Amino acid sequence: MSFPVKKASGLKLINRRKNISKRKERKLKKAISLLENRQFCVITGAGVSTASGIPDYRGMGSAPKKPLNFDPFMKSEEYRKDFWADGYQDWIDFSPAQPNGAHLAIAELQNTGFVNGVITQNVDDLHFVDEQQVVAELHGNMYTTSCLSCGHIYATSYIIEKLELGNPSLLTNTVDRENFWIPNCEQCTGIIKPDVVFFGEGIPSHGYDLATEIAKDAQGVVVAGTSMNVMTPYPFVQMMRQRGNPVIVINKGKTMVDDLADVKIDMDISEAFATINQELTSVVYI
Ligand SMILES: [Zn+2]
Repeated sequence: MSFPVKKASGLKLINRRKNISKRKERKLKKAISLLENRQFCVITGAGVSTASGIPDYRGMGSAPKKPLNFDPFMKSEEYRKDFWADGYQDWIDFSPAQPNGAHLAIAELQNTGFVNGVITQNVDDLHFVDEQQVVAELHGNMYTTSCLSCGHIYATSYIIEKLELGNPSLLTNTVDRENFWIPNCEQCTGIIKPDVVFFGEGIPSHGYDLATEIAKDAQGVVVAGTSMNVMTPYPFVQMMRQRGNPVIVINKGKTMVDDLADVKIDMDISEAFATINQELTSVVYI
């Protein structure tokens, strides 16, 4: 792919977006001017998926309101029953979610060569808009469930079906938590767990290795929709800063990387990426 180096439209398109305040427009212009003519990576968190209907405070598809802890999950069947009873409802609510404007714009930026990869804290799969997307999932993926003894991998949808068969009350208004049944591994009867990272559990090495590769190759970063309170991707932002590459932060509210940012934009993430995509991809390929 030839890398786009010459802009055709300039920044005048931003002025057509009347709903963006002058201050945010200036910040966006600065961000875009820092990002053009270079390949950058994008680090995303729960805020990128809220427009898809996934709340940023709980659930299998997002950062949990009550933390999912690995130790009690392993030690207590009661904890596992509670987890799956809650997780079932989260699955029903969140698994039909579709990519929103931010996911689509980021995917297009990747397909046009501006973005070399996405590093995400999300476990919802929504960055996989098409097969070309390079996405490092730091905290796993909710769509598969693994046996912690033998490593057998199940589709989470299959486990959900088993939960429904074993717990008819799930399909009523009152879930019978007292007699809640949870499945074990069909191969070895081991404990099964969705492939999302719980507190107290290590990060999957394939996700972290891919993230490291993406960050090393990138010449800048846009951090979007994350406060970075869970600091797994922090070293990547720090690395970018140390190399003198631009750091752009788009988030509603403070983040742990505000001090490292060249530009901090406090605005709707879909709107910001739609503008960045529109400006950067309106180019002449040479
Ligand atoms: Zn097993």
